[in-house]
Amino acid sequence: MVNGSYQWRFKARKDLTSNSGITVRGMLSKLHGAIDANDPRPTVNLGHGDPSAFPSFRTTPETEDAIVSAVRSAKFNGYPPSVGILPARRAIAEYLSSDLPYKLSPDDVNLTSGCAQAIEVILSVLSQPNANILLPRPGFPLYEARSAFSHLEFRHFDLLPERGWEVDLDAVEALADDNTVAMVIVNPGNPSGSVYSYQHLQKVAETARRLGIMVIADEVYARVVFGTNPFVPMGTFGSIAPVITLGSISKRWLVPGWRLGWLVITDPNGILKETKIVGSIHGFLHICSDPATFIQGAIPKIIEDTKEDFFKNVVDKLKQAADICYEKLEDIDCLTCPQKPAGSMFSMVKLNLPFLDDISDDMDFCYKLVKEEKVVIIPGISVGLKNWLRVTIAVEPSSFDDALGRVKSFCQRHAKKQ
Ligand SMILES: *Cc1c(COP(=O)(O)O)cnc(C)c1O
Repeated sequence: MVNGSYQWRFKARKDLTSNSGITVRGMLSKLHGAIDANDPRPTVNLGHGDPSAFPSFRTTPETEDAIVSAVRSAKFNGYPPSVGILPARRAIAEYLSSDLPYKLSPDDVNLTSGCAQAIEVILSVLSQPNANILLPRPGFPLYEARSAFSHLEFRHFDLLPERGWEVDLDAVEALADDNTVAMVIVNPGNPSGSVYSYQHLQKVAETARRLGIMVIADEVYARVVFGTNPFVPMGTFGSIAPVITLGSISKRWLVPGWRLGWLVITDPNGILKETKIVGSIHGFLHICSDPATFIQGAIPKIIEDTKEDFFKNVVDKLKQAADICYEKLEDIDCLTCPQKPAGSMFSMVKLNLPFLDDISDDMDFCYKLVKEEKVVIIPGISVGLKNWLRVTIAVEPSSFDDALGRVKSFCQRHAKKQ
């Protein structure tokens, strides 16, 4: 016989139970909860980062065939090495090298379960007592949530909307101290939609060099550009300051569910080797689960067989959406888009509260918008910028038009009477 009541000693971590509010995923599910079930109109989600469900944003048959062949070959049924299988690492090294002034080796490439796990790996490895990292604001909130979970202190530098969302490099210099280990840039930008020039990226590298820190370059939207600046990988400046490049097939190939990403050492002078960070990354990968082996097995064919036409088509659609977004917003008094998106799948839009009657802030705007119009938009506060909105432009053009029309009538209904 056992007497007494059972009491488990577990105490939930506050940073996990309260996280749902600060990640984009958590915010999306809260907003979806506010939808009026009696409204017959379709919900339009301008909050997501995953357009793969739309017919216009389906991946290529070549990519699908690559998976089928990998599965059918029966060569990829076993466990992979923790850094990933060699043919996949070689294919990614070649793919990325075509944009760089030096050649990457397959040993520079580590495969991860999407770019998200690459973020997890690097932030976990960098988290040591007293260390701090510099993060962009607005940014991708997984960096904050992951750093907090690993007890890695983070400090924010601003991106400047009036300068095309460039990094405020003076702020970076002012924030850094002897315990700063890295700064993060996201280029092409989520949520800013900006694409940095060669000159700006070079200045970022020079700043990192002066501070003795490395640059973590989130290039999950690499080559997804449709403005005037071409995409320049941060690794181009790897000989000025060491760079760790994070990426995945999720966005460019429109398959975020396939969970294949990479963490690449773009450090031609081998500075990082001396700090044993590469060894730490390998050590950390030993205790992580790996991307599915058959996805790794398909990578060489996915990269080789995807035709330029497919990428061009997607980029053209995004450009068209960026134009529509920019034009339609010109027409809405309470919203301004300081810069037409030039890359990624997002645009940051400023909320002009003085034009609105009964809206207290961005959160209030988004809650009332979804309740009244069934349009989901992420409030800027979720990506670090209060009283802004993050709008996804990667939606089917017809429903995008419809959604912006609903946003307009919402704004008119709530406009301050003159
Ligand atoms: C989508 C996204 C990621 C995560 O990419 P996955 O490959 O889906 O894990 C990381 N960083 C940014 C900026 C993103 O937009």
